[in-house]
Amino acid sequence: MVDKFFRADIDRTINMNMDHFEGILADVWPGRTRFLFSGAFQCGPSRDWGYNLCLWTTILAPTSFFFAVPAAYVWNEISPSIVVVVVGLCLTTIFLFLACSYTDPGIIPRKEIQVLFGIQDEIRTLFGIPPQPIQSKERLFIRLPDCKLTIEDAQDDRIYLTDELVSQDYKYCTTCQIIRPPRASHCSDCDNCVLRFDHHCPFINNCVGQRNYGFFITFIISSLVLGLMILFTIVLWASRGNDTGWASETVITIVACVVGIPTGLLLLTGLGFGIYHTYLAFSGQTTREHLTGRPPQVNSPLIQAAQWIVSPRIFSRPPRLFPRMRTRVRIPIVHEAQLTAELSNSIGV
Ligand SMILES: [Zn+2]
Ligand SMILES: [Zn+2]
Repeated sequence: MVDKFFRADIDRTINMNMDHFEGILADVWPGRTRFLFSGAFQCGPSRDWGYNLCLWTTILAPTSFFFAVPAAYVWNEISPSIVVVVVGLCLTTIFLFLACSYTDPGIIPRKEIQVLFGIQDEIRTLFGIPPQPIQSKERLFIRLPDCKLTIEDAQDDRIYLTDELVSQDYKYCTTCQIIRPPRASHCSDCDNCVLRFDHHCPFINNCVGQRNYGFFITFIISSLVLGLMILFTIVLWASRGNDTGWASETVITIVACVVGIPTGLLLLTGLGFGIYHTYLAFSGQTTREHLTGRPPQVNSPLIQAAQWIVSPRIFSRPPRLFPRMRTRVRIPIVHEAQLTAELSNSIGV
């Protein structure tokens, strides 16, 4: 049911008599990225839903308790401005959470998508990859459930991977069939290469990469401040006992402990995580680079040409590297029987 909600709004069943596939880019996107509202938003694979639900609960449960119980007391007896600040923090945290989860983390489109839209040269230029003489071309396929879509005129990207590029940490991804720049990596969960890949976070159900790292770190800070404010108001509310006019002191103490202690423990965990990511942000490293002990190479002349792809600045946000997911595509279909016949002819059977 959830997957049906996320799927693009087009029937991917291919009629055997059709010679072209017509749909939107989201329908033919390779990898496990999912799309919402016909590709207006994107997120990671469906297997993360349990972790994602945990994080939503962690944010919404204490916040709901605050608005249901202590908010009225805080507004009337302490200061309305505290409630206003909590409302602002709550909205900011939810916005950052959604931005982090449902926007492009910096995916480098696979070769078939680059060829389909004729953006190979543009992306190589952005990455600082020098041009090479044109070699023979090949045919690429996009696999759909019951057929293959063909894209002609694709060059093998490995000819661009010179020794100089290898020494600068450029790598060839055999899955995406592209050269990815330094600091990019292939996410095994989403099955795409991502710019300045930090890690795949199942709790936000997305990769954390160069384009959403700013949202990610500000989300952590915002949610920590929100949690501290809520814990602070619960302690204030509970310490006034019967003055709150809500219930007996024993009931108030029990409720405050049931809500406050888990919130406090989660805050301690979040605080450790927040300190770690603040350290990484200030030292210009990704989580992956820190854990593998491989600091980024950012000072070579070659890389200076495409400085934004290795920039350690948190808010350096490169352009999105592929067209909008709602972009319509029309691609020739090759059915399995046709491919078998072509193969038989080529080997002279
Ligand atoms: Zn890849
Ligand atoms: Zn991922």
